[in-house]
Amino acid sequence: MADKIYDILIVGSGPAGLTAAVYARRAGKSVLVLEKEVFGGQITHSPKVENYPGYLEMSGNEFAEKLMEQAQVQGAEIDLAEVTDVTVDDNGIKHVMTDMGEYLCKALIIASGSRHRELGVPREEEFIGKGISYCAVCDGAFYAGKHVAVIGGGNSALQEAVMLAERCSQVTVVQNLAFLTGEEKLSEKLFAMDNVDFIYSSVVEALEGDDELERVILHDTETGQSVPLEVDGVFVAIGQLPANGPFSKVAKLAVNGYFESGEDCMTMTPGVFVAGDCRQKNVRQITTATGDAAVAAVSACRWLDSQ
Ligand SMILES: Cc1cc2nc3c(=O)[nH]c(=O)nc-3n(C[C@H](O)[C@H](O)[C@H](O)COP(=O)(O)OP(=O)(O)OC[C@H]3O[C@@H](n4cnc5c(N)ncnc54)[C@H](O)[C@@H]3O)c2cc1C
Repeated sequence: MADKIYDILIVGSGPAGLTAAVYARRAGKSVLVLEKEVFGGQITHSPKVENYPGYLEMSGNEFAEKLMEQAQVQGAEIDLAEVTDVTVDDNGIKHVMTDMGEYLCKALIIASGSRHRELGVPREEEFIGKGISYCAVCDGAFYAGKHVAVIGGGNSALQEAVMLAERCSQVTVVQNLAFLTGEEKLSEKLFAMDNVDFIYSSVVEALEGDDELERVILHDTETGQSVPLEVDGVFVAIGQLPANGPFSKVAKLAVNGYFESGEDCMTMTPGVFVAGDCRQKNVRQITTATGDAAVAAVSACRWLDSQ
């Protein structure tokens, strides 16, 4: 707590936070990782990961458990606490405020991740990994030859639809507006594909199925009618939500709420670094999160050594 000053405090125990902990401990720094919800981060929601190099297949939980063990074996302290504010005093010490009290550190690595925006309809949580996905790169291969719906009409939804159309028998893009909002080039590419169709002015009202998702009920906002759409899977692509508000005093946020940072993962505050999905970037995956984490941890260690 407040009497001990850690070399490095890491916010978030997802793939980025725990990887940063491993690197920092191996460099001999004292490390505390603070997590507000689930140890392991969002990958714990994934029943199957097939794109992490060196592993044919594993569950997200398995991966998270191994990473937690690795960080602990290396000697990282890991605690449950939600960081609510960070300030820096005249000596450069970071004061990290949490719901469990105040912690002090010399360097801070923020690996607070992001969350996919959810549909907000009943049974959504229950069908995750059983027909509901938020990531075509992660889960698209499980739907080869099947009929899927992509919910959303912005750039990320259209990119997911293109990717899925290359392997699925049919892709139905469901957009809440009367038009797509993503880039014209992407729309044109989809319009030219035989196995892609579009449903406009419609929102998902309900999800139905026994053990697995079997259909979505779409509500047409113009006619007021509700119609079922039989699908094997639904890819929700209606945006992501970073949770970077508590850190806005020490790290600059872009307009979309993600952290702005350089290749070295440094922020505007000396000794404050960012890593993983919380950063402004194009690809949010375990590999990119752990890659950032290695860079942020090495940068933080070098910064500490230079003080
Ligand atoms: C269903 C699903 C399936 C996926 N499948 C794959 C896949 O197959 N392959 C792949 O490469 N990627 C996959 N991903 C994406 C992958 O999970 C993310 O890219 C990765 O987890 C990002 O790691 P991260 O550490 O940056 O962030 P996160 O995993 O989001 O971890 C951030 C952590 O920080 C914590 N936190 C946030 N704010 C605070 C705070 N104020 N105080 C304390 N703690 C805080 C959060 O609770 C969270 O645990 C999937 C994601 C989902 C949701």
